[in-house]
Amino acid sequence: MIRTIAVDGPAASGKSVVGRRLAESLSYWFLDTGIMYRAVTWLALEQGVSPDDSAGLGELAAAVQLRPVSMQGEAVEVAGARVGPELRESRVDNNVSNVSRHPAVREALVEQQRNYADSVTGAGNGSIPGGNGIVMIGRDIGTVVLPDAGLKVYLTASARERAARRCREMQGRGQAADIEKVLGEIEARDAIDSSRDASPLRPATDAWQLDTTCLEIDEVVRAILLRVNGGR
Ligand code: C5P
Repeated sequence: MIRTIAVDGPAASGKSVVGRRLAESLSYWFLDTGIMYRAVTWLALEQGVSPDDSAGLGELAAAVQLRPVSMQGEAVEVAGARVGPELRESRVDNNVSNVSRHPAVREALVEQQRNYADSVTGAGNGSIPGGNGIVMIGRDIGTVVLPDAGLKVYLTASARERAARRCREMQGRGQAADIEKVLGEIEARDAIDSSRDASPLRPATDAWQLDTTCLEIDEVVRAILLRVNGGR
């Protein structure tokens, strides 16, 4: 039985909504690792630590703690205080890739992510009860964080389709959205994420790559569930 599912892919490729639905259907825990990199970035902006200051950022990463609250909603705390919507601010969007490229930041966060998965699946001390497994989403889950994941999915979609989805999401929250601006930001983030030296964004060699440009969310979730349940 597959107990660890890694979902990777570029910005706005649908990882979050697909991952959540998968986890819900399977009664698995869900962890969006992007929020941890966002939390370090937010903290750096608040404290005026430069995105080039590797040592300073590494120290901040150590202050970001993952705390499981429920199967579907992990929480991230910064120095004991819970952070939420501020992690989606555009200043965080525009700096997070530059913060995430530092090995010192990644090492601190990856360790927590692995411990979290071990706790859920019982490979560690089994301290998080109640789930059958875990769906973890990010950029390096299949390649670095969980190289032995039972299933690795790499979601893609054209950059324009991803920008359109992100705009719809923003409009849904009552925010104004300019597709050309969003497209530029998504492409800039992907370029940094894919070209960094430390765990760059790329599909694991054994990942199942799924282009979702012309697929609805339900279709993507159904296709992945089929794989989980042994079908093709
Ligand atoms: O997934 P999300 O868009 O919230 O991720 C924000 C940023 O965090 C990414 O653009 C990337 O720079 C970084 N990230 C990462 N590794 C992960 C998850 C996110 O480098 N596993």
